[in-house]
Amino acid sequence: MTTVWVLGNQLTRTAGPLTDDPDRVLLIEAAALARRRRYHPQKLCMVFAAMRHFRDELRDDGVDVVYERAETFGAGLDAYFDAHPGDDLVVQRPANHGTADRLRELVAARGGSLRVVANAQFRCSPAQFDDWMGTEPPFKHRPFYRHMRRETGYLMRDDDTPEGGDWSYDDQNQETPPAEYDSPSVGGFEYDEHVPAVRDWVATEFDTWGDPDGFDWPVTREQATRALESFVADRLAGFGPYEDAVLADDWHLEHSLLSAAVNIGLLHPEEVADAALDAYRSRDDIPLNSIEGFVRQLIGWREFMRHVYRHQMPGLATANQLGADRDLPPLYWTPTATDMACLGSAAGRVYDRGYAHHIERLMVLSNFALTYGARPQALTEWFHGGFVDAYDWVVTPNVVGMGSFGTDAFTSKPYASSANYIDKMTDHCSDCAFDPDSTVGERACPFNSLYWDFLATHEDTLRSNHRMGLVYSHLDSKRDAGKLAAIRERAQRVREGVAAGRL
Ligand SMILES: Cc1cc2nc3c(=O)[nH]c(=O)nc-3n(C[C@H](O)[C@H](O)[C@H](O)COP(=O)(O)OP(=O)(O)OC[C@H]3O[C@@H](n4cnc5c(N)ncnc54)[C@H](O)[C@@H]3O)c2cc1C
Ligand code: SF4
Repeated sequence: MTTVWVLGNQLTRTAGPLTDDPDRVLLIEAAALARRRRYHPQKLCMVFAAMRHFRDELRDDGVDVVYERAETFGAGLDAYFDAHPGDDLVVQRPANHGTADRLRELVAARGGSLRVVANAQFRCSPAQFDDWMGTEPPFKHRPFYRHMRRETGYLMRDDDTPEGGDWSYDDQNQETPPAEYDSPSVGGFEYDEHVPAVRDWVATEFDTWGDPDGFDWPVTREQATRALESFVADRLAGFGPYEDAVLADDWHLEHSLLSAAVNIGLLHPEEVADAALDAYRSRDDIPLNSIEGFVRQLIGWREFMRHVYRHQMPGLATANQLGADRDLPPLYWTPTATDMACLGSAAGRVYDRGYAHHIERLMVLSNFALTYGARPQALTEWFHGGFVDAYDWVVTPNVVGMGSFGTDAFTSKPYASSANYIDKMTDHCSDCAFDPDSTVGERACPFNSLYWDFLATHEDTLRSNHRMGLVYSHLDSKRDAGKLAAIRERAQRVREGVAAGRL
């Protein structure tokens, strides 16, 4: 007798233990998990509604499903073992650090046993990654990505060289959409009783942050598959050129919007990559920079982050090599209260639907927190609560490593920039109350003084970094010209204003 315990982010029948026709399936809807922080109501709605749909689909196919609604996993297991004493459970290894051990203890305390099997929701297994890495971190994405390309055969020629001759077309992922640009429409899912019921329950039961209305995320395998098909049909071709662009009146551009569905198991990363590659092969409108860019994100960065997290936890969660000690400023929770157009827009998008794309996450939301000096853990907490696709294994390395430079274990330099980058990649600056070309003065863009002040503050740590040589020569020029003191004074005023919710 095998009972598979399916966690809320393991809703897959195409990989893992449910492919083996289990005798019984257990799902526990534990409310306490949703009380751990102020989550986005759309994230809670997505997960709980997807679990209920998953239960119904299994039952429709004749599977014996026990669905416990309880305050905690412990209470859910109490109810389960009262009915099925001494049962043996099987679970896929959760990607989050420490969870497997905690689940095992909970089950053992109730007289059962829990067998933890490999997590089949990724393309690269721990053994494969560790084999590739050998005994010598540091972790480097570029060689890992090449390894994955070879391993999967994705975009490889017969002679073991990459299609097109280059491994990455990152330099062709930074175009600005033309003025008449209009991205294809997205979403439009229709929901039966589960989404409305869960939305009402979430609204009355939990303390959340974010807009519960406008929910438009896939909650079934069928909807997720349609979301994948629509991305491949309508947006994959334009994914590459505009991947790094940010537009004030377009929240999704040509991004796939699939992370949340992949992260809870509704889609497998391999099938997503295969669908994109099939389209690339069978159509002639998908450029190499689009398909390569997409494969790099999904099979490169996503898998890399999972394994870096696996290796670096638990230290990664508290890493703070720059000693940043400020709280996150209030504008992250009240995006309408800031005059900074780019930041207000990005944080507002998170509030509206629990989503912002990767450049908004990295170069706007994280960049500001980094140069402002917010604790990586404060930023992680905000990302964790705000995004529909946030799970510890993916939030923590992205925010602590990439976004905050809390560790240099897998990022070689901080992703800090002045308004220059934002002005180039977005159309926000022309409608902003601040001037992207000024560094001092009341209307000077806050990103500018914070950026130079950040470089000056962390000079001892960062100047020797060979990738920072050029920016430090610019800092030297400002210092030599006697401008640095005024810039740092402006940064101080910006910090005070931002902390007080005035900017
Ligand atoms: C500070 C920061 C925080 C982030 N937090 C999360 C998070 O909580 N959850 C999450 O899934 N992704 C996170 N990411 C990665 C990335 O921004 C999102 O996966 C992506 O924006 C999701 O939107 P999409 O599905 O439209 O992605 P697309 O732009 O269409 O990219 C395709 C897919 O690639 C994968 N991907 C791309 N980059 C990464 C990455 N760095 N790490 C993991 N997967 C990646 C995702 O599965 C995504 O669906 C974060 C990135 C940064 C810089
Ligand atoms: S001027 Fe500064 S704050 Fe305003 S949109 Fe540009 S980068 Fe953002």
